[in-house]
Amino acid sequence: MSLIDNISNKEISLFILSIGILISPYNLSAAEADSAEIKIITSETPVELNIETERAIVENPDEPETIEDLIQENQNTSSAIDTTEQLPLSILKEVVNPGELRELSWSAGQSFSGKTVKPPVIVVRGRTPGPVLCLVAATHGDELNGIEIVRRVIRNLDPMKINGTVIAVPIVNIYGFTANSRYLPDRRDLNRYFPGNATGSAASRIAHRFFTQIIKHCNYVVDFHTGSFKRNNLPQLRADMNNTQVQEFVGHFGSTAVLHKSGHGKTLRSAATQAGIPTVAFELGQPGSLQEEYVESGIESINALISNLGIIKKRYFWNEPQPIYYSSRWIRVNSGGILISKVEIGSDIKTNQLLGYIINPLTTEEIRIQSPIKGRVLGMALNQFMLPGYAAFHIGVSSNTSSIVDDEQLNNEDNDESDENSNEYDVQTSDDDELH
Ligand SMILES: [Zn+2]
Repeated sequence: MSLIDNISNKEISLFILSIGILISPYNLSAAEADSAEIKIITSETPVELNIETERAIVENPDEPETIEDLIQENQNTSSAIDTTEQLPLSILKEVVNPGELRELSWSAGQSFSGKTVKPPVIVVRGRTPGPVLCLVAATHGDELNGIEIVRRVIRNLDPMKINGTVIAVPIVNIYGFTANSRYLPDRRDLNRYFPGNATGSAASRIAHRFFTQIIKHCNYVVDFHTGSFKRNNLPQLRADMNNTQVQEFVGHFGSTAVLHKSGHGKTLRSAATQAGIPTVAFELGQPGSLQEEYVESGIESINALISNLGIIKKRYFWNEPQPIYYSSRWIRVNSGGILISKVEIGSDIKTNQLLGYIINPLTTEEIRIQSPIKGRVLGMALNQFMLPGYAAFHIGVSSNTSSIVDDEQLNNEDNDESDENSNEYDVQTSDDDELH
């Protein structure tokens, strides 16, 4: 069964392979209600920046109901060719013609039974030239929000109407996804092995295949993530703001918050950026659940992106400026107990402000957690058991570009993509390829 077969706009549940992600009817109605409030303009309408709604969108009046409809519609109309048509794209041993939407697959390796594992890849090749944007999700198999963002974005793209190409890989780590796990079956974190090695560890080989089969075709990459292990992240881009190409790229995401993270290490973001492909990690929400508000927020950001890259003709305008945080700090607790937060994700924080309490479940003791710095809550642990040293609040610090600090100096062990700054024991995160 393919990933996106038989999915209707009106359906309230989505099943991927034999495992499904439930989207509650309540949330879907809320989403539909939200979308009904969006101001609709036509491409001929003069646009003013100070519009009443935050974003102005030109809706596609004849949006196909399903991917199958889209493919069918595409097959019916793709014979129309004009002189400005771009070249066919050779990818995954297939040729995708301009004006085509194709569902392909990449070869991730083999299962324990020896069967080849082939996660789906959807290629939307516009008729006319433009950038190749890659949207990839679930490098960590239990991070669901990105999967749904990619599905909905792709569903609304018409290859006959877009410029350039969008390549979507909704589930990179299909092994982890089917096991409801962040990791690969050998407990390695795939996002520590890019760009990979054809003769290395299992993780390194998978990373290598993904990098050489998919990523090398991209001009830009958005890699979707969530917080890890009972932690929630405000929607934010992790980006190396020392890289001018990346800086320019993040400017296309509307008012989506940005947290500067240096481009070292073996994450997909770092490896692709080092290979000259501007890449961001897009963090939204928490793992293990599908959060409608974050999905909607992510789709708005990606719509702004594909508009600003010229892939679609619709224009999106944002009234709010894009907040950029050039450094951040995790606030760790110094006592064991149960965390009770007193701030919301996204809150602005003053120095010494109360963030929450650690309560001792056996006494009346309550220990205050205060912020030593001024900033904004970009991520936070859910209320849970904590040991001394657990990371509870991730505070982004506003500053200007002249004070970009190398986050390795600032955050020490908290550097990494901080969705990987786990409170739990994280096994085999170092690459042992050099040992063999
Ligand atoms: Zn992740």
